[in-house]
Amino acid sequence: MTPPDTENARFGRVMLKISGEALMGDQGYGLHPPTVERIAQEVKSVHDMGVEICMVIGGGNIFRGLQGSAQGMERTTADYMGMLATVMNALAMQSALERIGAYCRVITAIRMDEVAEPYIRRRAVRHLEKKRICIFAAGTGNPYFTTDTAATLRANEMACEAILKGTKVDGVYDKDPVRHADARRFERVTYDEVLAQHLGVMDASAIALARDNNLPIIVFSLDEPGGFRSILSGAGTYTTVHA
Ligand code: UDP
Repeated sequence: MTPPDTENARFGRVMLKISGEALMGDQGYGLHPPTVERIAQEVKSVHDMGVEICMVIGGGNIFRGLQGSAQGMERTTADYMGMLATVMNALAMQSALERIGAYCRVITAIRMDEVAEPYIRRRAVRHLEKKRICIFAAGTGNPYFTTDTAATLRANEMACEAILKGTKVDGVYDKDPVRHADARRFERVTYDEVLAQHLGVMDASAIALARDNNLPIIVFSLDEPGGFRSILSGAGTYTTVHA
């Protein structure tokens, strides 16, 4: 194993936020084990640099509250189902990480002690100090929120230096780069510009929470092999959302 090289890593502790859809590969739903394994490898390669890693994984590949409420389900119940979906994704990622030798804890915002640890801030910090990857599951534990807000909340609580938001594209664009060939990528963009121009980096509550605590958000492509590690090495293509 390569020795830890934190001096060369840009940050000592980060929050990696990925959507649930990142785990479904080319399928339209659920978990695609080879994709989960590939992302686990990316995470481990950064962990091997000595970087302390927090993770939040969404649940959109399994269930979204808004989708349930659009079908007539009570919104809060649907949101709890969405939160449970994030626990399934977190357990799948934990399993993939442990298979490749990375120590990892799943920590839930809703108690389910037989399945995973409850969230206790000081305990989670201790795990990070002991170089365990912490996956925060079940969102904030509250309906009407998203996992982007959960990631921002936990990143602040864990004193992460940045949120790294892994997406399908390598940054924030002025319009959808998949549909518009002339879409322009921003190198840097402010929190207020993201909010005013509805740039769709994260939902408004997450952006406001990051802005109020001056927590940078780095948007990069998770589809790019080695993309996560490049950011930590100070390379790669990405957009920084800042004050
Ligand atoms: N959710 C919630 N509270 C939270 C986080 C998530 O109610 O604090 C629910 C919400 O219904 C959401 C679902 O969990 O639609 C899945 O999370 P999200 O949509 O953020 O997942 P992603 O889009 O990142 O895959």
